[in-house]
Amino acid sequence: MAYEPVIGLEVHVQLKTVSKMFCGCTTEFGGAPNTHTCPVCLGFPGVLPVLNRRALVEAIRVALAVGCKVSDKVKFHRKNYFYPDLPKDYQISQYDEPLSENGRLNIKINGGEKTIKIKRVHMEEDAGKLIHEEGGDSSFVDFNRSGMPLLEIVSEPDINSPEEAYMYLTDLKLLLRYLGVSDCDMEKGSLRCDANISIRKKGGTGLGTKAEVKNMNSFKAVKSALEFEFERQSKCLEAGERIIQETRLWDPDKGITVSMRSKEEAHDYRYFPEPDLVPFALEAAMVENERKDLPELPEARKARFIAALSLTEYDAEVLTQDKDTADYFEECVKFYNKPKIVSNWLMGDVSGYLNAKNLSVRGSKLKPQALAGLLKEVDSGKISGKMAKDIVIEMLDTGKDASAIISEKGLAQISDTGELEKFAEEAIAENAKTAEDFLNGKDNALMFLVGQVMKKTKGKANPAVVNKILRDKLSKKQ
Ligand SMILES: [Zn+2]
Repeated sequence: MAYEPVIGLEVHVQLKTVSKMFCGCTTEFGGAPNTHTCPVCLGFPGVLPVLNRRALVEAIRVALAVGCKVSDKVKFHRKNYFYPDLPKDYQISQYDEPLSENGRLNIKINGGEKTIKIKRVHMEEDAGKLIHEEGGDSSFVDFNRSGMPLLEIVSEPDINSPEEAYMYLTDLKLLLRYLGVSDCDMEKGSLRCDANISIRKKGGTGLGTKAEVKNMNSFKAVKSALEFEFERQSKCLEAGERIIQETRLWDPDKGITVSMRSKEEAHDYRYFPEPDLVPFALEAAMVENERKDLPELPEARKARFIAALSLTEYDAEVLTQDKDTADYFEECVKFYNKPKIVSNWLMGDVSGYLNAKNLSVRGSKLKPQALAGLLKEVDSGKISGKMAKDIVIEMLDTGKDASAIISEKGLAQISDTGELEKFAEEAIAENAKTAEDFLNGKDNALMFLVGQVMKKTKGKANPAVVNKILRDKLSKKQ
């Protein structure tokens, strides 16, 4: 029997605020264990949390960017559970009235588009972190992370393949990067993902019993874990077994998921309204201000690159795949208004260099104005396109301007006719046979003579000018 997976993703994003969700502790990554803490995030009795306004604003921006309806009320709940890295024994989260609901994200898949609905985007705080002694039998707790501002972005079970899950995560991360609300660094735990997966007969409706998979630390791992789960559940049903609702862990070394515990239901958490944070009304004007203030998002930017700058779909897609590259490209175009040429250079020689050195375009020494300067030198005929390819590498290496490199190395193309005529005369005299061939109708022979002049000028002659001079001189001989 053919099955299809039904997948929903829960993504946790750490917001890039200066201080934590409910206290003034720094959100800086690293630091000795338990140094970024205070009585509030350590959960001392009697302390009072205060909501970080910046975290709320960033949460609203994300909600708006994925088209969610933002609630007119902010309300927090306590989610109760015992875990050694959670000193309060509860986590402040949102429950029956989340910050926002009913959004969507369009993903690109198989050359087309698919809309994945987003159920809700809500705020919560992070827990601490357990560190298990390697080879020993002790565990340590680091509370630096507890109270970090998180957003939980929950999709509807609209995802029907591991590839779609991968694209959803990729596009969501791109969006979050455009908004600048998170560094989305999975290695630092700024972006984490849990996946719910069930299967059903292909083309069917309804939902089967789901398993929740945790502990995936890259998008690739999510894809592999889902592929494994799809196989496992399919075999299970084929064998006439029942699938049990449970939480499973992805083991990246073995490439399998293993059962961790049977899945909790919401009532297991004994949610109740957080008494220390009273619900408050969210001003519509504030939300509208944030909506107006949203940056141009990747989809819109790509469409504009195609419509206004006449880029191909492919070029626009590549250039908008990361905000820095798109910004950089637009800055170059400001200084040199030929988008297609700028795009060719960025996607060709420049990105080749950056990839080899593992650098970002912003991290490189080549500034937009300098790249524009180089392209202008080519247009003016001072250097050839071929020379420019060498010069751009030197610019990337040293951060120097094109004009400085050209004059330092005496690279300027020779377009001075007088000087070139002398070399042309020489080339004809030294290659009488070839010259004769040309006059007898062998057009290719001219290329050889052009080559000889290029050699004499160490590649600095302007080939178009040389070509013209040779033709003139030879025609006079006829
Ligand atoms: Zn604190």
